[in-house]
Amino acid sequence: MMELKGKKVLVVGLGKSGLAAAVFLRRQGAQVTVSDIRSAESLAKEIPALLEEGIMVEAGGHGLLTFRRQDLIVVSPGVPLETPELVQARNFGRPVIGEIELAARFLKGKILAITGSNGKTTTTALAGEILKTAGLPTLVAGNIGVPVVELIEKSTDETWSVLEVSSFQLESTEQFRPKIAVILNITPDHLDRHGTFENYALAKEHILAAQDASDFAVLNADNPRTAGAAAHSHAPVFWFSARHPVTRGAWVEGGSVVYRAAPEAAAEVILPLAKISLKGGHNVENVLAAACAARLAGVEPAKIARAIESFKAVEHRLEYVATINGVEYYNDSKATNVDATEKAVAAFGGGIHLILGGKDKGAPYTPLVPLVRERVRAIYTIGAAAAKIESQLHGVVPIHSCQTLAKAVEAAASAARPGEVVVLAPACSSFDQFESYEQRGSFFKQLVLEQRDWKARNA
Ligand code: ADP
Repeated sequence: MMELKGKKVLVVGLGKSGLAAAVFLRRQGAQVTVSDIRSAESLAKEIPALLEEGIMVEAGGHGLLTFRRQDLIVVSPGVPLETPELVQARNFGRPVIGEIELAARFLKGKILAITGSNGKTTTTALAGEILKTAGLPTLVAGNIGVPVVELIEKSTDETWSVLEVSSFQLESTEQFRPKIAVILNITPDHLDRHGTFENYALAKEHILAAQDASDFAVLNADNPRTAGAAAHSHAPVFWFSARHPVTRGAWVEGGSVVYRAAPEAAAEVILPLAKISLKGGHNVENVLAAACAARLAGVEPAKIARAIESFKAVEHRLEYVATINGVEYYNDSKATNVDATEKAVAAFGGGIHLILGGKDKGAPYTPLVPLVRERVRAIYTIGAAAAKIESQLHGVVPIHSCQTLAKAVEAAASAARPGEVVVLAPACSSFDQFESYEQRGSFFKQLVLEQRDWKARNA
């Protein structure tokens, strides 16, 4: 643990986790400054509470001097490490860490950490439920919505902290050492921020960096880039696979999720696939990962099964919305990259009316072509990425250029026949037309329910 009393600490970025970090640091007796490029007006909600705590605030930009005068700099996940002021501070020998690293230095108990391009929130929520069902003292935090520093005061030596960690948060970790680290998958995403796929993959693999032989790494045997991470693991590797048996870990056999702890051990059945209420093969992967991690945390198979059976989709993750005139509607607004969209399309046999578009993230849409040709009836494009999507998927299926989500829902609803599905799985982030994927998903659900009411009135 590090001594914070009297230390000068700068928190860069005033998001939810930056705010929590600043308050934590101040309460530990540090002299805390926060710096954000947003204007004082747009931070009007946060500033009074910070001043009240005795935290200094620098808004509307970063001062170079502010960055040089610190004993420690804590960076929010949304702030790129290449920000010039941060680069300077590092050149001046100032230690720069992220919120997760800060928390890891104070958190008591054991950490089960989950990263990956897709499925983190679902798997973190599920793993948290399993550990809770088993009666283990469990806290859930990270990218999922609760800053990890907020767990510090609640944690004891018996606590399991189940943490969702993003590649941004992992970029700057040093002592963050999960007892169990899970990498779900590594597929192209955030190339706008990490530059190359290689950099992005390395940031994710960093979850394994501080582990030792007494820890466990849980890796996806079906995802080549993830499996490659095994070569860099200091901890024993357990695998999960939806396709074939693994030497140790979890896989699917005879229609059930099974597990073994060692190559020579007999497989133990955890639960039949039919009892999983989450939709799609990708969720089988999430279940395998969570089950494997929970087994490593010492949870009995029956308790794992009980928690999985009662677990429903997290909001905006291939979430069922309604059935109107025999057409099912699903909200997968969180499908903000091409891989997640592929999984959404793969979750349905066919007859899909697919809403695509938003803010482009730099990866090609062409990987969608085979599945779209096989299962999608028509595509409805929205937002800034529409032209790129239309040119890359041109000629595969009919594409309707809708611009807005409202027009897309209307067009899809009037084209879809009973037995078909309308799916919002846009493969893009939401920031061109919405504040967040949550706002986009909630708006989609509202539009769908309006369609339902309208059709009921006009039936
Ligand atoms: P994350 O927190 O990593 O963004 P979520 O659980 O929020 O993951 O899911 C994000 C999106 O990815 C959703 O559209 C979801 O349906 C899809 N998804 C979930 N699990 C997987 C997986 N294992 N592989 C690919 N896509 C997935």
